[in-house]
This record gives sequence, C-alpha cells and structure tokens, in this order.
Amino acid sequence: MMKKGKMASKGIAIGNVRTMEHKEITVEDKQCDDVGASLKKLNEALEKSTQDLEKIRDNAEQSMGSEHAEIFDAHIQMVNDPEMKGQVEAMIEGEKLCADNAYNKVANQFIDIFSNMEDEYFKERAADIKDIRTRVLTYLQGKTPNDPSLIDKDTIIVAHDLTPSDTASLNLEYVKGFITEVGGLTSHTAIMARALGIPAIVGAQGALEDVNDGDTLALDAIDHNVYVNPDDATLEKMQDKLSAYKTYLETLNKFKDKETLTKDGVKVPLFANLGSPKELQGVTENGAEGIGLFRTEFLFMESDSQPDEATQIEAYKEVFETVQPVIVRTLDIGGDKNIPYIKQPKEDNPFLGKRAIRLCFDEIELFKTQLRALLIAAKDQKNVRIMLPMVAVVSEVRRAKSIVEEVQKELDAENITYQKNIDIGIMIEIPSAALNAKALAEEVDFFSIGSNDLIQYLFAADRMNEHVSYLYEPYDPTLLRLMHTALEAAHEAGIDIGVCGEIAGQLDLALVLAGMGMDELSMSPSSILEIRKTLSKLNSKALQTLTKDVLNAKEASEVKTIIKQFKDDNL
Ligand code: PEP
Ligand code: MG
Repeated sequence: MMKKGKMASKGIAIGNVRTMEHKEITVEDKQCDDVGASLKKLNEALEKSTQDLEKIRDNAEQSMGSEHAEIFDAHIQMVNDPEMKGQVEAMIEGEKLCADNAYNKVANQFIDIFSNMEDEYFKERAADIKDIRTRVLTYLQGKTPNDPSLIDKDTIIVAHDLTPSDTASLNLEYVKGFITEVGGLTSHTAIMARALGIPAIVGAQGALEDVNDGDTLALDAIDHNVYVNPDDATLEKMQDKLSAYKTYLETLNKFKDKETLTKDGVKVPLFANLGSPKELQGVTENGAEGIGLFRTEFLFMESDSQPDEATQIEAYKEVFETVQPVIVRTLDIGGDKNIPYIKQPKEDNPFLGKRAIRLCFDEIELFKTQLRALLIAAKDQKNVRIMLPMVAVVSEVRRAKSIVEEVQKELDAENITYQKNIDIGIMIEIPSAALNAKALAEEVDFFSIGSNDLIQYLFAADRMNEHVSYLYEPYDPTLLRLMHTALEAAHEAGIDIGVCGEIAGQLDLALVLAGMGMDELSMSPSSILEIRKTLSKLNSKALQTLTKDVLNAKEASEVKTIIKQFKDDNL
C-alpha cells in the first residue's frame, strides 16, 4: 500500500494499471546548413501538431464540454505563436541550428520564464509549453507522437505527469482514476480530474516505481490509500466502498435544488467561488445559493490586454444574470497574481507589497474603469455587491468609497444609468482588519473572510512556501478566534459576514464556521452538496457547542480531535 501525494479529486476507483511515462526527447546541439529544409520541417511540424491538437480539442469538447476544451485552443495558439515561431526561425537562419535544436532552445526559454514566475497560473503555463514542445519535437525528428493506445477495460493511469492532451486522448469511458508523481491541487490534471469526477491523487512521488502495467490497483481518494495488487479481502472491501460511494453521490444530487438548512431549520447559505463566467455551469450544477466571491482578476489574466469597459460589462452581466446574490471582488492583482500588461514594481516581498486595493489606488484608471463597468452591469440587478480586497486600515475603505462616489458623479454627468444602491463590503484577510473589525464595520455593508491570506499574514507563513507549510494551518484556534472577533463585530454593527477562503469548503471547518454563525460560506462548487447534506443532519445547538469547544482549544491538533469526536457522536 502506498500513501503519497495529495487527493486532488475525491472518489474510489478500481482497475488495471496503465503507466504512462514521458520519455524526454533527446535533442542534439547540432547545426544544419540547409536553412530552407529546416524551415520547411518547422512549418510541417507546427502544422501537424496543430491538426493533432484540433482533434484532441474536439474529443475534449465532446467528453468534457467546451470549457475544458479551451485549454487546447490555448495550445494551438502557443504552437502558432508568431513570437515563438519568429525566434525559432531566426535561430535556424542566423545560427544555422537544426530545426529541432532551435525549437527546443526557444521553447526552453519560454518554459524558464513561466516557471520562474511567482504566480501559480503562469507556472502552470510552463507545463502547457512542455506539452506542445514534446509533440512538435517528435514531428521535427520525423517521428509520430506516441498517443496512448485505446484503452478498453477499467484502467487507472499512473504517470509521472499527465498533460492536458494526454487526458483528452484517453478513452474516458474506461479510465477510472489517475495517479501522478508531480502536480499540485491547481495543476491541470487535478482540475480536469475534478471536472470529470475521476478520482485522482497528484504529487505521489515515486509512484511509477511501485506499480507495473497490468497490476490491479484500488485507489481510495477518500481515505487516501492506494492498494497495489490487493488481496481478495481488501479488493472486496474496496468494491463495497466503491458501490457505497456511488450510492452516496446519487443521494447528494437530491440536495441540489434545496436550500441549506440544519436539522432544526437554521439557514446556512452555501455560495460558490467563481473565477470566470466560464465556470458558471459548475455553479448551477451544484446548486449554489449565490456567489460569495467572484475573483475578477482572472478576467484580466485570461486576456493579453486590459479588457475594456464594454468587455467587462458583458462578462459581469453574464454572471449577474445567471445567479444572485453575487459578491464581486475588485481586482486583486499582485502577490501571486501578476498580469504582464499592468506594470508593477519589482518587490522583495510581493505578498507584503503593492497588491489588490493598494495597486488599484495607484492604477486609478484601471480601478475606475472596473467600478464603472460593475455599476453599469449591476443596473437592473437586485443583489450585486462590491467587495474590496486586502483592506488593512479604515482610511483605505474611505478612500475607495470616495472613488466609487467620483465614478458615480462621472456617470451622472454622462447621463449613463447605473446601479445607485450598491453594497460595498471588504475582505477580512489581513489580521489588522480582523482586529479593527468594529471600526471597519461602521464603514461598510458586509464582510467576507479570506482565510487563504488571513492564515499567511497571521502566522507569517507564505501561502506558496512548502518549507513553512506546517505553520499554514487552517485548524489553528488562533485563526478561528480571530475570525470570531470579526464575526462579533459584524453582527454587533448589524452587517453580515461570510467566509470565502478555502476553509469554507473543507467539511470539518465548514461545520465550525456554521456553528460560529457565519451568514454564508462560499466555496469551490464541488464541495457544496456534501456540506449541505451533512448540515441537514446536524442541529444548530450542537454546532454552536462544537464551535465553542474549538475556540477554547490551544492548538490545531486539539481542534482536529474535537471535530472528529463531534462527527463520531453526531453523524
Ligand atoms: C483569500 O485570501 O482567502 C481569498 C479568498 O482570496 P484569494 O485566495 O483570491 O487571495
Ligand atoms: Mg485573498
């Protein structure tokens, strides 16, 4: 049995192992004098790669929907990127490099640039270029890419890495699970596995050494176990667990169109976090009762240039017309999210630097355009609220509100109609804001706690840095008490408070937050139904007692023990 990696997509899978190893292609550092022949080879390889990717994209569209096929449009664009191609041609012509050599050098430069970026999103783009590089180089060397043969029985794929095009070229009717040696929870394998509902473990170092093709494998991505060639008793146990899980998923579906209530009828609205309008389908499919965090920066990251007012209005309207209430967060750029067309200073500590509202104050036109677009898009909508990220002090709220007023005056002067009654709220994600919540509550209409940042700033532990990950602890009672401080201040002032950081979607902590009295919990859509179902079995009084107990704890391990005991006693 191996127990490695991270559970990226929940579920149970049983099948035969099929390993997929990507052999690195060797490229010799050679010159080829026949420039014309090299250029011809390059064009042919790019063309064949484009044709392959178009087929893969169409397969993906059929099996996973257009949202997940878009990644291959991006790959097609990268293959045909004039900048990249121009650089390869220049090397072929200028330095007389052979086509594969030149392509490899240029692709590697791009991969280096992307992998050295702080931003997780751009880091993942390096994986995309690696994916297309392999395909193009294979063609440049006169070979055909070795796409996995057709799989026709229940299979679990074990791979070093699984690229998006690998995933799309698999026969998904028979692929029951994935295990990869690398990749994090935000890697494409993880995202696709979740979208497909295929159980997956990622980042399981050395997994390929533990298995051989044809082994029987039982993957338990619920209790985090992997059994290679299990004995009969274990196999039977896992088969039972698999059928119980299938039944469980069917029962979850019954909660889709219900509102979230505890057993004694107390409402705990479960909202969804949204990155872009493209994700709206998951929001409605999982029965979200609203959107508690619309991270608008992704709209800006998906584009090569700043989206103009009209483009923004269209994107915001699409969201507002699909689901409400919606909390739209103004741009949170900086830290780990950078956008090439917005100039930013080089900072030693970007998470402590010009990020989010701080950057918006400096890029005032950018901020005002977004506010204009939001106010106009919200015109006929009842329940759209605007949220400011990374507020540390009261003066920032006052300053932002005066900018909103300025924008409103400008719209009035231009005779443009817009939403005049819009709530303005703030993220509570910096400890100073949580501690000064009483004063801040007087300035705004609502709070939403961003635990992802609150944890890193509270414990001085960078959320991206594995070396200090022991300090990045969402179960720590200090964090929970700080959140409780903000909640008390909000409720005393008569404003509502929710949580939109990752902890809201973690079942155990969602129970604590519900018991604390949070007005809504906003999470990744796939977490909603399970939490809704669990809450329906619990009494609000019991949840409150649970929260009281954890707030008195001294450390994370104690909180975990208390929650486990609570679940054993009540579920
Ligand atoms: C948070 O910090 O918890 C949050 C929701 O914002 P982001 O993850 O986008 O920083
Ligand atoms: Mg944040």
